[in-house]
Amino acid sequence: MKSATLGMNSKLVHGGHHPDGSGAVNVPIYQTSTFAFESAAHGAALFAGEEKGYIYTRMGNPTIHALEESVADLEGGVGAIATASGMGAVSTVYMALLDQGAHMVGTASVYGPSRGFVEKHLSRFGVESTFVDTTCLDNIREAVRPNTKLIYVESPSNPAMQVTDIAGAAQIAHENGCMLAVDNTFASPYLQRPLALGADIVLHSVTKFINGHADVVGGIVVVKDEEVLARLHNVMIHLGGNMDPHQAFLVIRGLKTLGVRVERAQEGAGKIARWLEAHPKVESVRYIGLPSHPQHELAKRQMSGFGAMIAFELKGGLDAGRTLMDNVRLATLAVSLGGVETLIEHPASMTHASMSREAREAAGFSDGLVRYSVGIEDAADLIADLEQALAKV
Ligand SMILES: *Cc1c(COP(=O)(O)O)cnc(C)c1O
Repeated sequence: MKSATLGMNSKLVHGGHHPDGSGAVNVPIYQTSTFAFESAAHGAALFAGEEKGYIYTRMGNPTIHALEESVADLEGGVGAIATASGMGAVSTVYMALLDQGAHMVGTASVYGPSRGFVEKHLSRFGVESTFVDTTCLDNIREAVRPNTKLIYVESPSNPAMQVTDIAGAAQIAHENGCMLAVDNTFASPYLQRPLALGADIVLHSVTKFINGHADVVGGIVVVKDEEVLARLHNVMIHLGGNMDPHQAFLVIRGLKTLGVRVERAQEGAGKIARWLEAHPKVESVRYIGLPSHPQHELAKRQMSGFGAMIAFELKGGLDAGRTLMDNVRLATLAVSLGGVETLIEHPASMTHASMSREAREAAGFSDGLVRYSVGIEDAADLIADLEQALAKV
């Protein structure tokens, strides 16, 4: 059946699987580093790109390819490159698009290392960057320079939960001869498809919602254009940040239930966000599904749901947040997100500790902010857990 005619959940279950003749219902794990050639001429033809086929797992592997094909189809791209981690995806995009002397504009509240890699490392090779509040398109427009090659947006962003107008950012990128890349980790392809909104590149930490079971680290990049795909693939095989076949198998297994997991988690997240907003000890709640969220209307237009990520601040600030985190019993105090289990963490001292306080404030979040990734447990149990922990605050 043509995938274009299938709905999202059918694609999630069947995507990328081309039965190999053994009758295997699932994609087998091709746990091999290398692939035999039929002849010397065959090997030469594969290396010359005159024939399609597998050579060596760093360059491509059937299990990894099945995942790439499936996510590329979900995102509406021509192809994908699976990487060892989400940062492998981010660094491959940067290395492929930013030459010496190039400049990029990014969302100030991106995942910490997505900013750190440019500011601390690529700067050593003459790459320049400006990180701005991309919720206001004028900030992007003003930051663009003649040498800007990449606009890099994370939406919704981590942990400030800011939403950027992807179509608007794409227009600015294209008017200025550069590309727009979007980190779609928080939404997943189930809720948001940046390529359809005009982005050139979309990437994920598949560690989060795509795998969804907190047992794999991985990444993926999807693009619209064959030439860009070839460029990214070439950089990835030189950096050596490929995914491995067993990792790909686990991610394919997780991907099948993305729709049911996201639907259930976001239903719980909506209930919990509304409950938190009404709680007397809570100062503010950021959940893009709440009408009080500053980009709620934009999120409604560019996403098909509001997801499972909540950030909130207690009236007692950081000390109160610490007491809460030390007293939850059902939610686990851990970084990462997007899994079946609910996780709670403190961005200022954990995931975003490498940023200065000024940078965190400029990125739209204070030291008191607590991040809560809603899993698929019963919402009533999660609320009861928060209630008993808040009682101790
Ligand atoms: C976790 C995360 C990353 C990095 O992914 P890893 O798999 O940990 O390397 C990048 N972007 C966002 C939004 C993330 O949440």
